[in-house]
Amino acid sequence: LTQLFRPLDMLGMVYRTIRQGLIDMAAMFALMDQPVEVADAPSAPALIIRRPSIVFDNVWFGYEPDREILHGLSFEVEAGSRVAIVGPSGAGKSTIARLLFRFYDPQGGQILIDGQDIKGVTQKSLRAAIGIVPQDSVLFNESIGYNIAYGRDGATMLDVEAAARDAAIADFINRLPQGFDTEVGERGLKLSGGEKQRVAIARTLVKNPPILLFDEATSALDSRTEQDILRTLRSVARDRTTLSIAHRLSTIVDSDRILVMDQGKLVESGSHLQLLKLDRLYAEMWARQAAESGTVETASDS
Ligand code: ATP
Repeated sequence: LTQLFRPLDMLGMVYRTIRQGLIDMAAMFALMDQPVEVADAPSAPALIIRRPSIVFDNVWFGYEPDREILHGLSFEVEAGSRVAIVGPSGAGKSTIARLLFRFYDPQGGQILIDGQDIKGVTQKSLRAAIGIVPQDSVLFNESIGYNIAYGRDGATMLDVEAAARDAAIADFINRLPQGFDTEVGERGLKLSGGEKQRVAIARTLVKNPPILLFDEATSALDSRTEQDILRTLRSVARDRTTLSIAHRLSTIVDSDRILVMDQGKLVESGSHLQLLKLDRLYAEMWARQAAESGTVETASDS
C-alpha cells in the first residue's frame, strides 16, 4: 500500500512546491515585472545568518544594458535595525528589493547579507531568510490555517497558531465557528483588507525569517486599520532586521534610519528629524504629503 501511495506523495510534494512558488511569485508581483533567471553557483553553500545585516556595496545595475538604474549605490542596514527606503517614483526603491531577493544580479558591486555575497549562496537559503509582507496578498480558497501554514513547508498547527498570535489575528480566527478550519475566499469567509493583511503577515512569520521586507504593507487600508497594522508590524519587527519600501512617509517616521533615493542614487540618509532639519528632498516630500493629508508638522514642532 505504501508503494502505491509513494507516487501520490511525490505528486503532492510537487504540487505543494509549485504552489509555494506561486505564492512567492504573487508576493513579489509588485516587485518584479520580468523575472530573469539567475542560477546558483556550482556547489554554492547555504546562507548562514547569525547577525542579519544587509550591505549594498557600490552596486551598479540596469535592467537593460543601455539604461542604468542604480549608480554605485552603497548603504548598510545594521542587524536588528529598522530602515526605510523612500524617494520619488522611479527612484529605484523596488529595484533594491528585487536585487536583495536576487531576481537579478547587479552588473557591479556586491550585496552582502551577514557578510556573505548573496551571489555565492543558494537562492533557496536566501529566499528562506527574507520574509516579504506584500502590498496585496493572495489567499487560496482553503482554510485560514492552510493559508498561514503555506509560509513554510512542514509548519505545524502550533507554528500556525503562534504566527497568528504575533500577527494579532488569532483572536479573530478563534471566534469563528470553525476556527482555523474556516474556509476563506469565494467558497467561504470574506476577509476585510486588514484581516487579509494580517493573514499575510502570519504567513510570513511562520517562516520565522531574520529579515523582513515590507513592501508598502499598509497602502490599501483605512487609516485606523493602518495604525493597528503598523503597531503589529512594529512588534514583529523586534529582533529582526527590517527594510521597508514606503511611499507614504507617515508609516516610516519612527524608523531607525531613512534612506532617501533619487534617480538611482542615495541622496540623503538619517532619522526623520535629521532629514527634516536637512531641509532637502525628504523635507520637501514630507511637507507635500502633510499638506495633502491636512496635517502640518515641521522640524521645530517635533
Ligand atoms: P515607485 O515608487 O513608482 O514604485 P521605485 O522607486 O520603486 O518606483 P523601481 O520600480 O525600482 O522604482 O524602478 C526604477 C526604474 O527602473 C524605473 O525607471 C523603471 O522604469 C525601471 N524598471 C523597473 N522595472 C523594470 C524592468 N523590469 N525592466 C526595465 N526597466 C525597469
